[in-house]
Amino acid sequence: MAEDIEVAVIGGGPAGLMAAEMLGGEGLAVAVFDRMPTVGRKLLMAGRGGLNLTHSEPLARMLDRYGPAAATLRPMLEAFDNEAVRAWAEGLGQPVFTGSSGRVFPKALKASPLLRAWLARLAGQGVEIHTRHDWQGFGADGALRFRLADGGERQVRPKATVLAMGGASWPRLGADGGWVAPLRAAGIEVRDLAPANAGIDTGWSPAFAERFAGKPLKTVEIGFGDNRQRGDLVITAYGLEGGAIYTLGPAIREVLAQDGKAALRLDLRPDGDARSIAARLAKAFGKGRSRANALRALGLAPQAVAILREVPGGLPAEPLALAALLKAVPLEVSAQQPLARAISTAGGVAFEGLDERLMLKGRPGVFVAGEMLDWEAPTGGYLLQACLATGHRAAQGVSAFLAARHGA
Ligand SMILES: Cc1cc2nc3c(=O)[nH]c(=O)nc-3n(C[C@H](O)[C@H](O)[C@H](O)COP(=O)(O)OP(=O)(O)OC[C@H]3O[C@@H](n4cnc5c(N)ncnc54)[C@H](O)[C@@H]3O)c2cc1C
Repeated sequence: MAEDIEVAVIGGGPAGLMAAEMLGGEGLAVAVFDRMPTVGRKLLMAGRGGLNLTHSEPLARMLDRYGPAAATLRPMLEAFDNEAVRAWAEGLGQPVFTGSSGRVFPKALKASPLLRAWLARLAGQGVEIHTRHDWQGFGADGALRFRLADGGERQVRPKATVLAMGGASWPRLGADGGWVAPLRAAGIEVRDLAPANAGIDTGWSPAFAERFAGKPLKTVEIGFGDNRQRGDLVITAYGLEGGAIYTLGPAIREVLAQDGKAALRLDLRPDGDARSIAARLAKAFGKGRSRANALRALGLAPQAVAILREVPGGLPAEPLALAALLKAVPLEVSAQQPLARAISTAGGVAFEGLDERLMLKGRPGVFVAGEMLDWEAPTGGYLLQACLATGHRAAQGVSAFLAARHGA
């Protein structure tokens, strides 16, 4: 027998907890269900990087980061913008600051105090948290079916539900995309999940990978088609990671799907032009310096010089050719890192199947929020910003839905 409850939120990540907070604050009886023994595990993991809560840039610029989903997300980000995120964090006793890149962080530079205060607020509102409840899908009568840790099953039949089960990256933190099959089985359109903010595989030689994995490439530029992105990268055993690559991710993913490979260019000295670099190289050669020494005299780190040696054909002897190579090192990308190792997830529940309050058109009373939805954005605080804003919007939807039901 299914138990009747008022509001169920499935998934205790930032999106689900925001929805629970809004609804609990209205005095509704809210129960959060999560498959893990504790909630907010990915939020805590994000805290290891300082917890980039949002970005300080104006809304119009921020919206650009969401690509094709920007128009859909606009009203949600307007209703719960970066100022709202700051105020919310500060309301939880977590003062924030804006870093030099415009990113916004709590001064504590971690998530645990914020999550603790958040859970205390929810408890004060009477929000119940039921862990070790693994959602399996909808029962024939629309009830929510959970598998319990002891192998048993619990069914609940809420008046309204918020689905906020996250994407499928870092599955050990709880979100693994297991919801895709039950939603598709229920006739809900879900776009295939794909890695977002993922590293690229460049096929380094074993010697290079062994020696330089973990080393940075500071202030370089990655070019792909007409797009150039500047930033710091990190060399890994398989290739490269870093914000500049993540920003190009959607375009790289598209070309990889089509051609099986993608050609990128790496500019190791984005501030210098090839001619002036060549003149400096020629001068160094004139003094009898080797190519490697001449490159180091330009300020290139050993790993940057070694990357040039990874290019078939080796280092050109002629200064202009060497300078040109340094400005556009060809990188053949064979793959992106798999979803499990990506920072976030592209794809998800299609907005076409939802109304403007994030309610499933085919399943009245069921709302969707957070990374489960079909949007993606680069790192920079845009992920949590949209998770919180969609959680906020779904809660408003639930509230209006229940009010209309009671009024009917
Ligand atoms: C290493 C790392 C660092 C990051 N750093 C940042 C950052 O600094 N800034 C930023 O903006 N973003 C960052 N992110 C991304 C951000 O953490 C996520 O976008 C965000 O947590 C997604 O929120 P969500 O609520 O949609 O899902 P999640 O946080 O993934 O929460 C989903 C919840 O649903 C539960 N769940 C899943 N399936 C079921 C099921 N079947 N039944 C019951 N419960 C289920 C999970 O256990 C989980 O608790 C980072 C991500 C990673 C991996």
